[in-house]
Amino acid sequence: MFERQRSGSVVCPSCNRLVGVNEPQCPHCGRVSPGMFGYARALQRISGGESFVPFVIGTCSLLYVLSLLFGFDGGSGGLMGMLAPSRESVFAFGASGWQPIFGFGRWWTPLSATWLHGSLLHIVFNMMWIRQLAPALMRLYGPGRAVLIYLIAGVSGFTLTSCWGYVAPGLPVVLRGASVTVGASASIFGLFGALVLYGRRTGNQALARQVRTWAVVLFVFGLVFPGIDNWAHLGGFAGGFVAAAVLDPLKPERPDHLLAALIGLLLSLLAVGFSLVHYFGIR
Ligand SMILES: [Zn+2]
Repeated sequence: MFERQRSGSVVCPSCNRLVGVNEPQCPHCGRVSPGMFGYARALQRISGGESFVPFVIGTCSLLYVLSLLFGFDGGSGGLMGMLAPSRESVFAFGASGWQPIFGFGRWWTPLSATWLHGSLLHIVFNMMWIRQLAPALMRLYGPGRAVLIYLIAGVSGFTLTSCWGYVAPGLPVVLRGASVTVGASASIFGLFGALVLYGRRTGNQALARQVRTWAVVLFVFGLVFPGIDNWAHLGGFAGGFVAAAVLDPLKPERPDHLLAALIGLLLSLLAVGFSLVHYFGIR
């Protein structure tokens, strides 16, 4: 898989044009070592757009089970709260919100919280939406940019809800930012945002309208049902929309996007590990 290529040509990771693998600099765009020391092609081969959905479902499920084993919360909240990890447990694994960030200095949690879930229905609903939306996004943006949009939306959603919760704590519950929050739904709203952007950018009004309807229905659902982090949804949608506009679906995906996506994935998973290490340090 990580075979090193020593001769021939590769696609430049910056400009997508063909260059010699041993070229010190791309003659088209000037990028230094466009062959990535022989690993540019290996990078493109692991792109596997089909593996992202199983990866997200597998990682979220594993972390959900681990967080349940770590601390279990009887299930006082009815059906929605069934099989809920304790608040302490989701905090330890890297929940975001104004308390972890501003109370405990856990500033990296907007990266980790997207992998964690607060109950059985919470994770089942979110994984269903990811299966529904992510394949389309992979097709339209390419796997690298789809993953980047997913991660950026999570970070922007959790950053917004945490900061809003910190600066405006006295609001009615439905308008308040989250004190402790987890879930893939900020990222899912980012996928909505990116699909709306795609529809607008390509003139596909039917797609834009369809996705906007889903997003609005789901957002209103969040306003009506208690315990749903509406600011994370809003921030996720905005983050996904802006990231998608910057990454521009009308341009082809570059290997650099893939590299950035892999680094982003790695950082967000490291954030979960670091959350646990930090938790045992402050306990
Ligand atoms: Zn180039």
